[in-house]
Amino acid sequence: MRIDILTLFPEMFAGPFDTSIIKRARDKGIIDINIFNIRDFSQNKHRTVDDTPYGGGAGMVMQAEPVFKAVEHLRELDDNLGRVIMMCPQGMPFNQELAKEFSREKRLVLLCGHYEGIDERVREKLVTDEISIGDYVLTGGELPAMVVVDAVARMIPGVLGEMASAEADSFYNGILEHPHYTKPRLYEDMEVPEVLLSGHHKKIQQWRRRQSLMRTLERRPELLKNADLTDEDMEVLREVYQLLKGILSKK
Ligand code: SAM
Repeated sequence: MRIDILTLFPEMFAGPFDTSIIKRARDKGIIDINIFNIRDFSQNKHRTVDDTPYGGGAGMVMQAEPVFKAVEHLRELDDNLGRVIMMCPQGMPFNQELAKEFSREKRLVLLCGHYEGIDERVREKLVTDEISIGDYVLTGGELPAMVVVDAVARMIPGVLGEMASAEADSFYNGILEHPHYTKPRLYEDMEVPEVLLSGHHKKIQQWRRRQSLMRTLERRPELLKNADLTDEDMEVLREVYQLLKGILSKK
């Protein structure tokens, strides 16, 4: 997959994209990440890229022209632009489903805003998706773009050693993942649950699934509504429901 990132601060991307799994994926040629400085597409001699907002008010607004020119350049490199995704706190909340969806694309363009944001005409004309990474406002779209690239990359076959590890992760199948333990078996006075040492594959799977369901019920019950639940899962949840009903009726 080719990912083109448009930003006013390319230097921010050094580090996250040159480390660990993302670096390996780039080295293997599975993802090709290219960072473009929007300032390079400014048409004036001072290379300005922002100006005061029409109508007054605080802050500066990124101008439309350098962004249009940058996207034009990307189109010249390859006519098939793909999705142009603007990082925006007002956008669609980013989640695992979107990460999977984006991972099936051949090319993504990520547009990072800064200051008060980007001239609205960019959104109207160029942007296909607006993505928010949460209900808070950051200083720029660079960190959100890194979050999106990281989550999308690990959904591309070959990026993680074993795809099965991503498939067991929280959210992949709509629920949270079970807890993990590693050596030693006893740390201070804390023991690893006995079942994990039993070597009994089926019992371990059942224990893990139950832990996933309980965690989801406890922390994010709303996820269960859309999760892919088996008959066995429903049985576990019914059991918990009966237990709670019994407790509540005695109060
Ligand atoms: N004035 C804008 C508003 O109130 O909606 C906020 C602008 S913000 C300070 C500057 C840039 O940071 C945005 O254009 C966007 O690219 C990025 N950004 C900030 N928070 C974000 C979030 N939660 N998700 C995605 N992008 C965000």
